[in-house]
Amino acid sequence: MSKLLVANWKMQLTIKESLTLAAQFAKIVKTTKNEVVICPDYSALSFVGPILKKTKLTLGAQDSATDNRAALTGEVSPLNLKALGVKYVILGHSERREHLHENSAIINRKIKSALVNKIIPILCIGEKLTEREDGQTKLFLNEELHHGLKGVKIKTASDLVIAYEPIWAISTNKNAKPMSPQEADEIQKFIRASAAKILKKNVRVIYGGSVDEKNAVSYLSQPNIDGALVGGASLKANSFAAVVK
Ligand code: PEP
Repeated sequence: MSKLLVANWKMQLTIKESLTLAAQFAKIVKTTKNEVVICPDYSALSFVGPILKKTKLTLGAQDSATDNRAALTGEVSPLNLKALGVKYVILGHSERREHLHENSAIINRKIKSALVNKIIPILCIGEKLTEREDGQTKLFLNEELHHGLKGVKIKTASDLVIAYEPIWAISTNKNAKPMSPQEADEIQKFIRASAAKILKKNVRVIYGGSVDEKNAVSYLSQPNIDGALVGGASLKANSFAAVVK
């Protein structure tokens, strides 16, 4: 079955490096049965977009604003992202929730705004280590889903994606260690059911947290894992190509 594989380059590359990586990657991955989304930072979108256009790869963004037009200095309108050819947008990433204090109310508005512009939101949810240790994981995820998806209406199951990213498993976090694929699958089954109750649609649920070329198959072969959101390993063309293949 086709999987959704999303590269999150975060703020790790210059425009020149983004161009080089996109070109290298496009050269290695000429064909794939999977849907592959490359998310450069805002400044690189208009440069990377034309490279991807000649391939089967899709352009994504790492965030977008709550409104199409507003006095919001520094924000980027989903209207403009759409014009640049963006098909997916990552929303509610744990780094934005933690370092930029983005809350579920803001994320909820961003989701609605992306949908209005026919951009597919990838809503990130995930528990911290303390919530896990307190046995609160599912309770916490359910709350993030309910707040993030409040009043969200989608027409088809492919209009929205959930990315489950246990924060303690993200490779750049201190003492990060990957969640076992079996546990990720079990939690994703719960997320799928919970999201289906809210949205009345069976949306895709992808996994993120230290996924790389060595462990990708063990995650992607699980029945409730519809794809992966990849940070660190997406910064090397060969590593991400191996995940995609
Ligand atoms: C992420 O931050 O979205 C992520 C999945 O990162 P990594 O793959 O590096 O753990």
